[in-house]
Amino acid sequence: MTVLRSGVATDIGRARDSNEDRASAGDNLFAVADGMGGHVGGEVAARVAVETLERAYDRNPTIAGLREAFVAANAAIWEQSLRVDELRGMGTTLAAAGLTVGTDGRDVMCLANVGDSRAYLMSGGMVRQVTADHSLAEERVRHGEMTEAEAETHPHRHILTRALGVGPDVDVDLWQLHVKSGDRLLLCSDGLTNEVNVEQISQVLHSVKDPRKAARALVDRANAHGGNDNVTVVVVDVLVGEDGNAEPSVVSRVTMTGAAGAMPEAPPAEPETGPVLTVPPPAPSVEPRAAAVVPPTKPAGSDVFVAAPITSAVRTLPPPEYRPPPKEVAPQPTETRRERRRRMGVPRRITVRVVLFFLLILAVPAGGIAVVRWYSMDNWYVAVDHGHLAVYQGRQGGFLGFKPKLLDLTGVTTTDVLSFRLPVLRQTVNEPSLKAGERYIANLHQEFIAQQDATPLGSG
Ligand code: MN
Repeated sequence: MTVLRSGVATDIGRARDSNEDRASAGDNLFAVADGMGGHVGGEVAARVAVETLERAYDRNPTIAGLREAFVAANAAIWEQSLRVDELRGMGTTLAAAGLTVGTDGRDVMCLANVGDSRAYLMSGGMVRQVTADHSLAEERVRHGEMTEAEAETHPHRHILTRALGVGPDVDVDLWQLHVKSGDRLLLCSDGLTNEVNVEQISQVLHSVKDPRKAARALVDRANAHGGNDNVTVVVVDVLVGEDGNAEPSVVSRVTMTGAAGAMPEAPPAEPETGPVLTVPPPAPSVEPRAAAVVPPTKPAGSDVFVAAPITSAVRTLPPPEYRPPPKEVAPQPTETRRERRRRMGVPRRITVRVVLFFLLILAVPAGGIAVVRWYSMDNWYVAVDHGHLAVYQGRQGGFLGFKPKLLDLTGVTTTDVLSFRLPVLRQTVNEPSLKAGERYIANLHQEFIAQQDATPLGSG
């Protein structure tokens, strides 16, 4: 069983007019999207990406399902950008983490990424970057054409080589993580990583325990460092995971080939040693990302990726005869969601939300019982018990199962009080406390004695 708790924070930043980032944090799916495209394009792309992802992953919460969800999100954005003129060229990054069952049958987090939003894993005291940016500069670093330091300040570092919704197909990077109790996952848009270096991110992740406060603290740091871009952060804590040694959790790259939907399951993952990142502080001036995505066009005989001009996203539109991928087959209406999940081998999971729900369910009757108990016992009365006057706590005859308690069986009998007081005593004489009840009995007795003294013997 895996229990997760998450926190989300998103902010427009200090330089932009609108927030084109979008975050998602459900019970078992978490995502960050950073949209781009003129006018409302970026906002629409990020929203469509996250909404499509949520629906698709809900139908098939597996590693293959996460990849299919990315493919579906890509198609939805692409289709819409072809239909609506002012949305042409829109696109978005998407980094997502989903809780599912791994290829070995254990609970795992699967991660998927397209673009330069990032996922970091804090495990065993170390913070590692899991994803690799699909930016022009980072691709050149990977091809050994540029150093990490050069990439940090390269003018093309914000130009993406991959994004969701800018073409009919998309290549999705996938990983699976065997998370343990205490692991913490961070998803963020580049508005965070451009402003705050990994040492500072790591420091916040280590020091702020509450995931909501940690997400907020990271966003605040980005704004304090300039806030040149929208910034979005999702922090996911593994409250209960697989137990194990103190070693950091294992991150594996998952490779899938072929068309989406044609893969029943992921092939065994190849282990990957995640490097511990040391990122130098951000460059003093951070320019906004160009609203264009450069497809990784590789001229023949060259390893150099050519950065196309900004209008390339429009020019690389496919011919009008393009048809978006066919819609997914709707599930059988007779099959409930639970049955479908069971058939797919998805175990039912206990999330923090579910635990809180059951606590609430238990709290309601417990509170009701407490109120009834308080009402039934917040009363005292005087009555006659086997000829003796007694003080009871409770309601005479009981109330909803709470029976009165005999507190003081006094030595005063029915013959020790004036006879005209007896009918009242046979009914209920309520008193505000035990002391008041005892005082009442004592007074009756005093009254009786006073009467005896005043009456000459033999004349009564
Ligand atoms: Mn951004």
